[in-house]
Amino acid sequence: MAHTPTFPVSETVEVTSPDVACDGIGIALGHPRVYLQIKPGERDVVCPYCSRRFVLVEAAEATAAQ
Ligand SMILES: [Zn+2]
Repeated sequence: MAHTPTFPVSETVEVTSPDVACDGIGIALGHPRVYLQIKPGERDVVCPYCSRRFVLVEAAEATAAQ
């Protein structure tokens, strides 16, 4: 299966950090870069420009050990 790096509008993007920067990459026109933060106790944040939803996911084991 080929991986096509396309980002349709309103896509859900999984992130492992609550701090997210979005500049509309993948959208025809893009938008000014904005910094979004997933608030403690919440699991996602929606970019007000492109409506993409960033969902906080657990980092896969890599950072489990301190
Ligand atoms: Zn955006």
